[in-house]
Amino acid sequence: MSVLIKGGRVVTAADDYVADVFVEDERFSLVGESLDVEAERVIDASGRYVLPGCVDPHTHLDMPFGGTVTIDDVESGQTSAAFGGTTCHVDFVIQGRGQSFADALDAWKAKADGKQVIDMGYHMAVTDLEEGGTLEELASLPEQGVTSYKLFMAYKGVLMVDDETLYRAMEVASQSGALVMVHAENGDVIDVLVKEALAAGKTEPIYHALTRPPEAEGEATNRAIQLAHLAGAPLYVVHVTCREAVEPIARARDMGWNVWGETCTQYFFNSLDDIAKPNFEGAKYVYSPPVRDESNWEYLWNAVRTDALSAISTDHCAFLWDGQKTLGRDDFSKIPNGGPGLENRLHMIHEFGVRAGRITLNRMVELLATNPAKLFGLYPRKGTIAVGADADLVVFDPERRHTISAATHHSRSDYNLFEGTEVTGSPEVVLLRGQVLVENGELVAQPGIGQFVKRAKFGEELKPERTSAAA
Ligand SMILES: [Zn+2]
Repeated sequence: MSVLIKGGRVVTAADDYVADVFVEDERFSLVGESLDVEAERVIDASGRYVLPGCVDPHTHLDMPFGGTVTIDDVESGQTSAAFGGTTCHVDFVIQGRGQSFADALDAWKAKADGKQVIDMGYHMAVTDLEEGGTLEELASLPEQGVTSYKLFMAYKGVLMVDDETLYRAMEVASQSGALVMVHAENGDVIDVLVKEALAAGKTEPIYHALTRPPEAEGEATNRAIQLAHLAGAPLYVVHVTCREAVEPIARARDMGWNVWGETCTQYFFNSLDDIAKPNFEGAKYVYSPPVRDESNWEYLWNAVRTDALSAISTDHCAFLWDGQKTLGRDDFSKIPNGGPGLENRLHMIHEFGVRAGRITLNRMVELLATNPAKLFGLYPRKGTIAVGADADLVVFDPERRHTISAATHHSRSDYNLFEGTEVTGSPEVVLLRGQVLVENGELVAQPGIGQFVKRAKFGEELKPERTSAAA
């Protein structure tokens, strides 16, 4: 299948120019002015942006959590991603207690089999290095294309690891070519605060936020940074929400340490006012780390603008409000943590980042596609438009108006964190490796089209695979 995308404004992290883009054998083959080539399919992109397919480095699909399972499986989650212009994501395998990494990986791959709509990779969430996986097995994962380890410093008694386990994983990563990711909140302190709140009869959703203060995030972030530096491991701090956590990341980056930070779409828009909503509606905004007060919004915009934070993910972890979030109606600590977001990252960041003048179009592409691809071993096959790269792209209409709503989104969640928000600018056509995924508001491709991507080790490039005639 060959496709010619004509006359669009091609925007990458570095460039911005009008050109034709020719796609053949799943990859970008030619980029130039007025290309004189025959194509099986021609897409007129005049007046549109041609963006690389976005890469979401942080999602949770088909994940058991908090006594239930996320409402989006691989098919519904990835469909929602495709409509939002995301063509590749990296999901988390969660190692069970006592489970080997190989068994965990097999179990998660089985959940994706035949359901994949976009391309994907996996991070390994390490929960047990005593009864379950061994250090040797952990060290072998990057060879299999799983080139990042995630460790939870929170969720005591469930996912949380102690500093010994964290540090051992960092030592392994420093040798194996993996990037260490941390959920940085002090789980011991949060556990005390939660028990105190419940003992005082404080059960409303707002107490989820009030028992997870910014100091707990700032402390754990700094601890992870210092430990990673000691171990010589590169570190990526996921879902940074506040000044207390940005500051130690910015300081480490100023010193030239291998530290990066990510925030998520919702932290620019949701606040304590949302989680305080009456009649249990606040439960929609229960995710961790929690919503913060509004003063952090501009602070985070500035952090992504200045590269104190280098990526924006969604941490898509969707539940139904009615039937799942309600497990915690009488006890905020039983509300499943997480929210939907895969579909609206590009919408929201384009509207309130680019159109509002906070970041440039190039920086948007860098935050949503190029940097995640580079940090997680997908670049340059993913995250840019360049000859030889996978032809994942978004024809984006900057004038198209769209109202975000659970009534029209493709997640199975019964609510949307940005309900009713009107944006100008929306994906029109989305291609995955040269095949049309989304067009005219419809999913055109069949599930099964997406592939598992064996990612490159940290700091290495993922070379385009020569699969067909082009070899
Ligand atoms: Zn997460």
